[in-house]
Order: sequence, then structure tokens, then C-alpha cells
Amino acid sequence: MSHSSPAVERVAQFEVTYTQYLDPEGQPRAPLPDFAQDAEELRRMYRAMVQTRAFDKKAVVLQRTGRMGTYAACLGQEAIGTAIGCALRAEDIFIPAYREYAAQLLRGVRMRDILLNWGGDERGMHYEGCAIRHDFPLSVPIGSHVPQAIGVAYALKLRREPRVVLASCGDGATSKGDVYEAISSAKVWNLPLVFLISNNQWAISLPRGRQTGAQTLAQKAFAGGLPGEQVDGNDVIATRAVLAAAIERARSGGGPSLIEAITYRLHDHTTADDARRYRNEAEVQEAWQRCPVKRLKQHLEARGLLSASDEAALQQEASAFADQAAEEFLATPPASPAAMFDHLYAQLPKQYEWQRQEALARGLKPGH
Ligand SMILES: [Mg+2]
Repeated sequence: MSHSSPAVERVAQFEVTYTQYLDPEGQPRAPLPDFAQDAEELRRMYRAMVQTRAFDKKAVVLQRTGRMGTYAACLGQEAIGTAIGCALRAEDIFIPAYREYAAQLLRGVRMRDILLNWGGDERGMHYEGCAIRHDFPLSVPIGSHVPQAIGVAYALKLRREPRVVLASCGDGATSKGDVYEAISSAKVWNLPLVFLISNNQWAISLPRGRQTGAQTLAQKAFAGGLPGEQVDGNDVIATRAVLAAAIERARSGGGPSLIEAITYRLHDHTTADDARRYRNEAEVQEAWQRCPVKRLKQHLEARGLLSASDEAALQQEASAFADQAAEEFLATPPASPAAMFDHLYAQLPKQYEWQRQEALARGLKPGH
């Protein structure tokens, strides 16, 4: 029997790109997109990042002083939320995980409501008084909200509405079946959908390298037939530009995309976590060099768009903004203790009915 080579030919090949406009010192690496030529627009983005950071810090203080149950800080990830908030139109639908508070701030959510939610009061996710009430609530379970984006995007397509769904999740969620299933369906139906993965390098205590053997998370798109790419998630200009392109492609019938935004979680996973137990402090210090707020600040300063007095005024405003959110949260009367029973069933089963009555009779307060 003679040895022969089988006929092997390449049937597909894929490439993952990584986009960055600003280096960690805020220096442009390429000509900037149009929105970044606009000084007012850049200042608006910077303001959102500064306000988000101040809010985040205040929220951690509220938890540490026993006035809020738990909180997932977005420290170091402010650029991603800001990019989402700027790239989406009001009529688009945002299906968040958590940590994208800057997007919610820019979409008009009252920050008091974010605090209410983390305080265990689901009225916070009603988005009352917010023009954009069609966004989804924060999703704490990992990845289970991503398939819901398929249903929402499918509805928009059926109704022929030129709106886009953006579903965000973390690096850990990309190992969940829910996310794979959503990726698998999105292109088959050519949905107006963008998946955004905030790869902050840690899924609670599990480092990115142990989350998956895949070289990138962006490449998970390819199995579903979607374009997948990486962007520097600490570069707000790059993240907004890449997101805007994917969103407008989806809006014009070009179908879904997946974007992996590379960032770093500078805080603990939540206030219920202590990252010092599993993570090297040198790694965290090194990540601070890539801080997204510092990067845009240095860029604005280099262009003469942010003076020392502008910065001082912004910081003062942000601090007052965070204080105001906290005051509004603390001044909100507690929900009725019956509320925890009210949305579980169309008709409350008997075994819960007496518990509901007893909760009302005892006047239980949330958290007690
Ligand atoms: Mg993560």
C-alpha cells in the first residue's frame, strides 16, 4: 500500500483584530474619529466617567457603612459604560449585566435607582422618571440575560423597527451555555444585536487564563458566524468607535456582532469579595497605569481642552452628584414587605399567602 497525502484544503479562516486610538498616556496612535474631534463631546464623555467614578466610590462607602447590602464596583471599567451610553440611541435597548453604570447615567437613569437596586429594593429597576424605560434591569445572574436579547432583537426585526439591542456580559459569562446559545442564534436570524463582553480579566476569583482555553473571547463569535473583534476597553474613544460601527451595521440590516472590550477590574468583584486573597497587588498596580479616566484626562490636557480649574470644578460637581444620589437613596421610604411576594406568581399559592399576611402584620422592613 502506497502512502498518499489526503486532500486537505483550508475551508475557512478567521482573524481577530484589536483597536486602540489612545495609548495609556492618552497620546493618539491614529487619526481620531469625528466625534473625538468635537471638544464638547469629549468633555461630555470625560464628565460621565468622572461622575461614574465618584458615584461608584460613594456606593462602596454606603455598603461599608452598613447602609446598602452589597455592590459591584465598576472601578477601572468606566470607559465601557460611557462608550455604550454614547453609541446607543435613546430608542435602542440596553440589556446590561452590572458595572455599566456610566451607560445608565448617560441614558438618564437616576443613580438613586441603582443604589435602591443594590439595597434590595427592586423599585430601583422600574427606571421611574427616566425617558428610557425600555432598558432591562441589571442582571446579577451570570449570562442568563443574554438569550433574552435574542428575543428582544427578534421582536424588533419582526416589527421592522430600526432599533438595536446591546447585551453586555463579562468574561466569565462567555463560558456559560446561555451565551453560546445566544451567539448561535443571532446570525441565523440576522438580528439587530451587539454582544459586548467586558473582559476585566477576572470572573470573581477565576483568572481569564483559567476561564477558557480560547486565545481570545472575541473568537467565540466565529462559531456563530458573527464578526468578532477586540477593542481596548480602557480607551473610551476606541470603544465608542467600534461599538458605534457595530450598532449602525446592525441597524442597517447587517446583522449581529460581538465585541470583546479588554479592561481590568480594579476593585473587588463585589463588596462581598476580598480580591487580595487571590490576586497579586503588583498586577493591580500595573493595571492602574491603564486607567481609562486618567487616559482621557491626559488626552484632554494635551489638547488644551481641560484646565486645572475645569478639573477641580468637575470633581466638585461629581462629588455633589454622588452625595445627592446617596441622599435620595437614603431618603426613599422602604418598600412594603409584601412586595417580595407580589411578582413571583400570577396567583400567590396558599403557603405564601399566610407569610405575606404575617409580613404585613409585623411591618417587616426590607433586610430584616
Ligand atoms: Mg470578569
